Amino acid sequence: MDAIFRTDPYTQSCEATVLRADETGIRLDRTVFYPMGGGQPGDHGVLRLADGSVIPIRDTVKGTGPDDILHLTGPGVTLPAAGTKVTAEIDWERRHRLMRMHTCLHLLCAVVPGEVTGGQVGDGKGRLDFNLPEGGLEKEAIAAALNRLIEEDHPVRPVWITDEELAAKPELVRTMSVKPPTGAGRVRLLEIEGVDLQPCGGTHVRSTAEIGRVEVTKMESKGRQNRRVYVALVGE
Ligand SMILES: [Zn+2]
Repeated sequence: MDAIFRTDPYTQSCEATVLRADETGIRLDRTVFYPMGGGQPGDHGVLRLADGSVIPIRDTVKGTGPDDILHLTGPGVTLPAAGTKVTAEIDWERRHRLMRMHTCLHLLCAVVPGEVTGGQVGDGKGRLDFNLPEGGLEKEAIAAALNRLIEEDHPVRPVWITDEELAAKPELVRTMSVKPPTGAGRVRLLEIEGVDLQPCGGTHVRSTAEIGRVEVTKMESKGRQNRRVYVALVGE
């Protein structure tokens, strides 16, 4: 299974062959569809067949392993036979908004002190939970710090390290709720140059300016040691 989004998150479509299609989902030999995970939703899109018919993909999830990606259709869809050639095409406008917000949440991680205990990337909005007592956080100050990092246009790139290197640097793991996928020998880190470095398997934009202007829409206390910070893309 060739997961193209891991090496090139900007690829919007690819030719692929159906390996298997059943009630659990459609499996392809390669795909541009990101499966839900690490706080990022799965992609939506379509599979185009040679005869011109279109199979809508309403969600993408992981199956039994990291390389088992299930493309989910709605009810009443005729499933393609194994061996069928398709063009797999994601809803790029939605994915790009998810990439912008996902990258923004890395910035939020760098701006707010405290461990991240949870989070969710949404379409045009997102949130992170921090293990912090009440007080000391201010919406406008967080938004100003985020927008400054966005305007500074820091390069964003994946960096690979070995499991041993990660084990020697536990401080890299900021997100307690999402354990990095170790055991494959190497771990993918996401580096925002000069700002943030942590394990992440999601999709991100190439540089922080591409996120565009953001706002902090809300802050909540979810228990004594849990502060939830909501951010949104401006004008989306
Ligand atoms: Zn990430």
